[in-house]
Order: sequence, then C-alpha cells, then structure tokens
Amino acid sequence: MAYKFLVIGAGLSGTVLANRLAANLDCTIDIWDERNHIGGNCHTARDEKTGIMVHQYGPHIFNTDKKEIWDFVNSFMEFKPYVHRVKAMSNGKVYSLPVNLHTINQFFNKAFTPNEAKAFLAEQADNSITEPKNFEEQALKFIGKDLYKAFFYGYTKKQWGCEPTELPASILKRIPVRFNYDDNYHNNIYTGIPVDGYSALIEKFVESDKINILLKKKFSNEKELEGYDHVFYTGPIDAWFQFKYGRLGYRTVTFETIYEQGDKQGVTQMNYCDANTPHTRITEHKHFTYWEQHNSSILFKEFSKETTPDDIPYYPKRLQQDKELLMQYRKDAENLAGVSFLGRLATYRYMDMHHVIGEALNYAENFIKAINTGAKPPVFPNTEMS
Ligand code: UDP
Repeated sequence: MAYKFLVIGAGLSGTVLANRLAANLDCTIDIWDERNHIGGNCHTARDEKTGIMVHQYGPHIFNTDKKEIWDFVNSFMEFKPYVHRVKAMSNGKVYSLPVNLHTINQFFNKAFTPNEAKAFLAEQADNSITEPKNFEEQALKFIGKDLYKAFFYGYTKKQWGCEPTELPASILKRIPVRFNYDDNYHNNIYTGIPVDGYSALIEKFVESDKINILLKKKFSNEKELEGYDHVFYTGPIDAWFQFKYGRLGYRTVTFETIYEQGDKQGVTQMNYCDANTPHTRITEHKHFTYWEQHNSSILFKEFSKETTPDDIPYYPKRLQQDKELLMQYRKDAENLAGVSFLGRLATYRYMDMHHVIGEALNYAENFIKAINTGAKPPVFPNTEMS
C-alpha cells in the first residue's frame, strides 16, 4: 500500500525531504504552502521591469564544505562559480569585509604584514575575557574595541534590535576574521549561485508524479490532517500549537526597492555599519548573475524590525525566554504521533541553506529507515539545544 504523506511548507527543507521520500518509497506526497510560490525565503524571480533575477527575501549565496551536499544541488542544476565579496560603509568610508588584512590596514592606516596585524590586534583585544559569553565579548576578545565599534556594534543593534551583550557569541562566529587579503565572505570551499535561480532549482526537487503542490494553502487545524500516514511540518513550531505558551521571538526585514540605470553600487552587497543609518544593507541583484547583461539595475535597501503576527519570520532571536518557550513546545511535539518538525522555523534555529539541506537529507534517511523497520520516526532532526 502506498504511503500518503503531507509536507507543510514548500521551502528548502520540505522540498528536499519530499524529493528523497519520492525517490525511495512507494508514496504520494502533498505539499502545502501558504504563499503563492515555492522556495520559502530562498525564492527568486525575474523582475518584470528589468529582467534581473531577484532574491525576493534578501541575499542567498549557496556555500558548503560538504561535497555530498554540493553534488546533490548540482545534480539538479548548474551552479555558476560565485564568491560573495561584501563591502562595509562605516563613518563615510568603504572597507573590505569580513575583517581581513585589507580592512585592518585601511582602518588603522597601516601596511601590516599578517604577523604584524595579528600582534597589533592581540594588543587591541580584551584579554580579560577568557570564555566569551555573548556577541560583544566575542568581538572584544578577537578584534578589539575599535573594529567592533566600526563594523559590528551599530549594525548588530539595528539588525537585532537589542544590545549585542544580549546576543549569543555564535552569531558573530558566523563571520571569519582573517589576517590575509582573502575577502571571500564565506569560509566554505564550495560556493555558487544556481544559474536559473533558487526557485527553479527547488522546482526540480519536486518534479515527480508522486508529488502534488498546493500553493496559497494555509494549514489551519489538525482535522485537515486526517487520511495522511505522516505529516512533516516545516512552519514555525509555536504556530502549530496556536501560540499556546506565547510567541517565539523573531526579527523580520523589509525592503525598499530602488531602480537605477547602469551599476549603482559596483558590488552585490554593501553593509551600512553606523547606528544612525536606518538600513542595514543594500543588495544590487544584477551582480549575483554577473554572466548576464543588464543595462538597468534593481536594488533592495534592507531594514530590520521586530516581527508582528502579520510579518514573515526571518531570524530566530533565541533569547533566554525564547529557549524556555521552545523547550515547552518541543516537549508537546514529542508527544504527538505521526508528525515531524523540520527546518529553520520548526526547529527555531538560525540556519544557512546548506545546513537545511544537509539536515533534510539526513532526516529523510532516518525516516525511511524507521518506517522500513517499523520503528517510530524521530520527531525532530536535532536534539534540544543543537
Ligand atoms: N554583522 C555586523 N556587521 C556586518 C555584518 C554582520 O555586525 O557588517 C553581524 C550582525 O549581528 C549579523 C551577524 O553579524 O546579524 C551575522 O552576519 P551575516 O552577514 O552572516 O548575516 P545574514 O546574511 O545571515 O543576515
């Protein structure tokens, strides 16, 4: 007998999972998404006015260290080599990011070698901090007060709406600090952009007679789930439980669209690090697809704000009170039968695309093993605090 599965959410985790289930099991899979497109926040579409491929929910650059994940995405679509080189505007001057030897030399007006820069920053660093307990301590320990104030303090306050002392050190650890001139924003070996955009790539994940996608379909109550052998939920975990313990904190972003002729900023992404500039960054989309020719240009000026019930959740804040709420929701989820929780929103974590894909591939394998052996499939792909 064929299994009947439901996946709620047509973002990366739901579609990668559906792809693996369809390939390995006798099943039919319905995928519901409340938006009018697939791809979740990775969604890309060509702008009608300019023909430029736009990252509708902000910049997404695929990067990973894992060959199997790189091979998986490349088996569906060609990826063009792309190295993300971000610039930072601080106090009226443009610098290289992430902080690298060029940034240090520009900022301090020096011509340090790698070893000289290391020694210099070691003097700047706050050595009284042994185990950094938060974002600010992490920064002060590794780059010192001056670089922290110039590039991180203002940006982070705007981005997260709180003092960096309230944020975990892990947010800063996302960004490398280098003592050479390498200005690749990411540390991973494999990095690129799918030639026809992320939505076209994700469409290929779900190209199967076994998979049926229903857009503009909002999941409203558990009664709708009758008849399915298993449900995979990739929406916000607190929404599944109708926010009964309260809402998990997220930041959301809004965009102001700007049209221009030619090349407006000369780079894909410019960060605005000063606290008194209201936006966090500007993305000029045509630079993602440098292999295409476009005379005009479209840019997104990005602003960050607190999420209201009507906003799209972007960045999980994971403050102490959020973690406590999450634990309550996870406990309730563990008691459900026939439902799994997967992806950024259902596990409430700040995840990059390669994390989401890796976890969905891994979860699919475990799920298939479990049902083939009659075991209970895992409810979550991760443990409580991982
Ligand atoms: N950040 C910063 N200044 C910058 C860029 C990043 O202070 O110019 C901090 C900020 O707190 C941000 C975090 O580093 O949330 C992670 O940055 P990343 O560029 O990885 O954020 P994303 O692209 O996921 O928004």
